[in-house]
Amino acid sequence: MKLARMPDGSPEIFHTIQGEGRSTGLPTVFIRASLCNLHCRWCDTPYTWNWEDTDFEHDLGRKFKRDNEIIDFTPAEIAGIVEAYPCSNYVFTGGEPLIQEKAWVELMRALRETNTGSHFEIETNGTLAPGPAFTELVDQFNVSPKLSNSGIPREKRIVPESLEFLAGTGKADFKFVIGELTDLAELIEIQAAAAIPNERIFLMPRSNSVDELEANQGWVSTLAIEHGFRYSDRLHLRLFGAKRGV
Ligand code: SF4
Repeated sequence: MKLARMPDGSPEIFHTIQGEGRSTGLPTVFIRASLCNLHCRWCDTPYTWNWEDTDFEHDLGRKFKRDNEIIDFTPAEIAGIVEAYPCSNYVFTGGEPLIQEKAWVELMRALRETNTGSHFEIETNGTLAPGPAFTELVDQFNVSPKLSNSGIPREKRIVPESLEFLAGTGKADFKFVIGELTDLAELIEIQAAAAIPNERIFLMPRSNSVDELEANQGWVSTLAIEHGFRYSDRLHLRLFGAKRGV
């Protein structure tokens, strides 16, 4: 399984608290997969996809060496690492973790075998519909469909049948990164097409720093109140700053 690799050579697996969405504040073990099928210009994990031999544009203007940023572990090896933490809430993140769907199924089965109380969340961009085994094992999908502010063509970032499938599981929240007022019309259009109930939608201010979060939190939370959506903070950014592995 291809995981993001920390500068010290270890896989990006860490015990912290969930900073976004429904489970904000919950102690959680994060496992960060490498690779993504999108290339958002404000992505906060460009080291999972913005390789030197690609022409993707990113606000940072920096490229990454693929071999330096990926480390291979089997699901059994990952289970051995994460089971050492005093925590049974797991978040699979990326990159786009569903690119490696089969390996997550193996990992979830291994973890449930030793602890039936293991709780699994996945953070996904919503372009890939998972199969039955994955869908049954996972407890919660945190879907983050990308808007035009990501700089990606709509046909690549919005896959209606996949969003509809995820909404239909009854296990999915949809988190939208809001950077401008005009993002709302796009969100409402996606909501209608995929039949997403208001209480499953979170608006989260676009922010890669506390300053940016504080600049956007007021108007984005007001928008959530006015339209009956939920608001998501980025608590980890406030607590730890824009760092890896926290
Ligand atoms: S989908 Fe997520 S991980 Fe992939 S480029 Fe966009 S923000 Fe980054």
